[in-house]
Amino acid sequence: MTKKLFTEQVMDQAASLCHNRGVKFTPQRRMVLEILYAADKPMSAYEILDLMRGMVKNPAPPTVYRALDFLREQGLVHKLESLQAFIGCIHPEYPHSSQFLICADCGGVSEINDAAIVQSLGTVSKSIGFQTKHPVVELLGTCAECTGKNQ
Ligand SMILES: [Zn+2]
Ligand SMILES: [Zn+2]
Repeated sequence: MTKKLFTEQVMDQAASLCHNRGVKFTPQRRMVLEILYAADKPMSAYEILDLMRGMVKNPAPPTVYRALDFLREQGLVHKLESLQAFIGCIHPEYPHSSQFLICADCGGVSEINDAAIVQSLGTVSKSIGFQTKHPVVELLGTCAECTGKNQ
């Protein structure tokens, strides 16, 4: 599937998710999400803002932050804490805790959803009385593609 087709497909999915949940998918929210889905790597709020400058007149930082908050609440984007950057979620239709594999060479990020990791983190934190609000699992390394290139 081409990137453009992929973006169109996930955008359609996002629009119908918002519709079904009765929340508004405003043009700004749509634009921010589209930028993230079209990007090959995670983007910071500033990078998103920069790209929006080419599309709308004077986009305001609070607009971008509010749109990102909304998209995160709806599970349409994830925030990568270690990078202070955002990526579009590839399967926002059900709530999930994700793990992220971040490539230090190309900056690419893969999202994985391993229930066993979530469960074992839950068990361990519970046993020491830690209340997890937001489980963040980010692994820094080299992706398969970059590993191949380096050999
Ligand atoms: Zn996700
Ligand atoms: Zn890589």
